[in-house]
Amino acid sequence: MMETKTQTLQAVSSISEMKEISQSFRKQNLTIGLVPTMGCLHEGHLNLVKRSLETCDRTVVSIFVNPTQFGPDEDLDTYPRQLQSDIEKLEGVDILFHPSNEEMYPTDYKTYVQVQDITEHLCGKSRPDLFKGVSTVVLKLFNIVRPHNAYFGEKDWQQLAVIEALVEDLNLDVVLNRVPIVREPDGLAMSSRNQYLSQQERQTALSLSRSLKEARDNIRQGTTSAKVISDLIRQGLSGKEGVEIDYISICDPKTFRGKEQVCGRTLIALAVKVGPSRLIDNCIIEEI
Ligand code: AMP
Repeated sequence: MMETKTQTLQAVSSISEMKEISQSFRKQNLTIGLVPTMGCLHEGHLNLVKRSLETCDRTVVSIFVNPTQFGPDEDLDTYPRQLQSDIEKLEGVDILFHPSNEEMYPTDYKTYVQVQDITEHLCGKSRPDLFKGVSTVVLKLFNIVRPHNAYFGEKDWQQLAVIEALVEDLNLDVVLNRVPIVREPDGLAMSSRNQYLSQQERQTALSLSRSLKEARDNIRQGTTSAKVISDLIRQGLSGKEGVEIDYISICDPKTFRGKEQVCGRTLIALAVKVGPSRLIDNCIIEEI
């Protein structure tokens, strides 16, 4: 007989307890959906949660600011943490898994997984620790929660590709679900790091989505040279106070290799520092 769904969120911080709960769900033939996050939840995260709630019998949201994916000069210490208000947003969710650093990475921790090749481009180039940390923590979460389904946002397009490779190459038994980017009404891609922005920087940050839109419009009107498009985007981003472009990439959405011409399915991806925040955004140009 199916267990009836309880309405209250259960917060779990121990790996062994989380494993027991997942085992009990599986014994009851209940499907488990996992939404991995670093917290400071916004509508982008909550859309992933909604997809899991619609599809799975039980939904687990993890909140863990994963130290292994931050480089030494990055924002691990200042990354926004607001567990209490996150909890209030998790309506309908069954389990919040929020382990400590010591629980996930005890002092004698030594194992990392690394996806090769596609991690050498874009964010992997400027943040060399990022994807090793991401694939390690995601594999750990999959082993602990044993989800049937896991939900990831296309805002982190390259991260999704890395996790797809991890699942395929290591024969993991989980279905990955891609969820489109959720934006603010003015176009800014939602991100926990938007919290760092002053009002002025928030205005400046709009140039990411705007320049992507302009690029898309230009491609629609017939421009195919990646250099021309890339220069246009650079123009749209440059000359503003506090802006530092990390990369503008016009590339294959699976291999992340740069393209000279926008032909076939193409990813346009940006990483730009605006004041204290490193922001990313992207759009897909379908076959033209
Ligand atoms: P994070 O907490 O930033 O690690 O993100 C957790 C998950 O939420 C990842 O799968 C992200 O891709 C996804 N996510 C974050 N922001 C957005 C957004 N604006 N739209 C869609 N998914 C998002």
